[in-house]
Amino acid sequence: MTSDLSAFAAKNGVKYFMIGFTDLFGGQRAKLVPAQAIGQMQEEGAGFAGFATWLDLTPAHPDLFAMPDPDGLVQLPWKPEVAWVPADLMMEGAAVAQAPRIVLKRLVVKAAEQGLRVKTGVEAEFFLLDAEGDAISDRFDTADKPCYDQQAVMRRYEVVAEICDHMLALGWKPYQNDHEDANGQFEMNWEFDDALKTADKHSFFKFMVRSVAEKHGLRATFMPKPFSGLTGNGCHCHVSVWDRDGTNNAFADEARPFGLSDQGTAFLGGIMHHGPALAALTNPTVNSYKRINAPRTLSGATWAPNAITWTGNNRTHMVRVPGPGRFELRLPDGAANPYLLQAAIIAAGLDGLSTHADPGPHSDIDMYVDGHTLSDAPRLPLNLLDALRAFEADEGLTTALGSEFSAAYCKLKHDEWNRYCQHFTTWERQNALDV
Ligand code: ADP
Ligand code: MG
Ligand code: MG
Ligand code: MG
Ligand code: MG
Repeated sequence: MTSDLSAFAAKNGVKYFMIGFTDLFGGQRAKLVPAQAIGQMQEEGAGFAGFATWLDLTPAHPDLFAMPDPDGLVQLPWKPEVAWVPADLMMEGAAVAQAPRIVLKRLVVKAAEQGLRVKTGVEAEFFLLDAEGDAISDRFDTADKPCYDQQAVMRRYEVVAEICDHMLALGWKPYQNDHEDANGQFEMNWEFDDALKTADKHSFFKFMVRSVAEKHGLRATFMPKPFSGLTGNGCHCHVSVWDRDGTNNAFADEARPFGLSDQGTAFLGGIMHHGPALAALTNPTVNSYKRINAPRTLSGATWAPNAITWTGNNRTHMVRVPGPGRFELRLPDGAANPYLLQAAIIAAGLDGLSTHADPGPHSDIDMYVDGHTLSDAPRLPLNLLDALRAFEADEGLTTALGSEFSAAYCKLKHDEWNRYCQHFTTWERQNALDV
């Protein structure tokens, strides 16, 4: 990949660069910069007024400058005259400490200082809705158990194959696509990569899925629980940690239980220890708490966790160890900020490594059937406020993610919770009119 964006444009027919960043609420913001102006923009950055986004800045703050990172450049496969470039936010020459991509980069550096390279893969589930977004787009997609439905996935072949073709062209090594467990829900998988690369790809994937869906007159959503009673949109994250040059999986030890090395076990211990606080980042919206802790869905299972437990190959727990040398965190949902998701996992895992954290005993039970009677494991937060409070109380995690970031995030999220609480609902009238 080129480091000179102007030269890249001339060589590849790029007319516009989209210099983009992700704010604290996962909002993707960008400026479209004509190729003729990219040279200067690459030196000085694209200017933004921070208050206009979710970054906890005021209208009086100086401008933000988004410095494009050519390593993350992606030429839009559906519009190759535009190249998307993820950017790092600067203010008055210094990195903006609460900007999600900066938060992640700092943790990647911290891991590297310990000789470690975190590699992850995400499973960003989504629904395809009608253009207005209020119903599943395929009116024939009504089965009680629609997972892997052959006919239904083919009715959305044009959309799914177009996205997969794009991932093939981008060299992401996609390997499977399916209809998921809810009516109207799909999942597309590509190969894992370094955490920052996965975050950039995850961010771009959401943009690409929405864009291709719109092209076909549909609307894609990654909302955690768009339909009560149907399985929600998870965003499981598979995690392994490698040595500096990325050739040796430091998590793998076939001789140990579940094939997890001492390091893998301690990293997992960090995830378990910080579980309730992690939810504030992996499950960041009011709606997120309707996916976890949820009653059984139409398909028979939510496939989302309720408690802080880990297991071998059993999909009813928060963490699954599907095979040697990696684990799957099943807690995150479709609203998770791609950068903060990776940052939270690395922060919790590195803390686990430094404290030699014990993940506790594993559990083999079916949490959906026996979780309430056979498990005394701590429960996951029941709502966003509980999660935020758990996060604020977790000094290890807030410090590891950066105190400026943590304060900014909590402030904006508490404001959001308060706005939600001020909203009057039909349920209130139904239940309180006659009290
Ligand atoms: P499942 O649905 O069984 O949880 P998927 O195949 O949908 O699994 O997704 C698995 C994800 O995990 C993919 O992104 C894959 O590349 C990734 N993955 C596989 N091995 C590793 C590993 N060692 N480290 C990190 N991610 C991995
Ligand atoms: Mg203006
Ligand atoms: Mg999957
Ligand atoms: Mg899935
Ligand atoms: Mg999974």
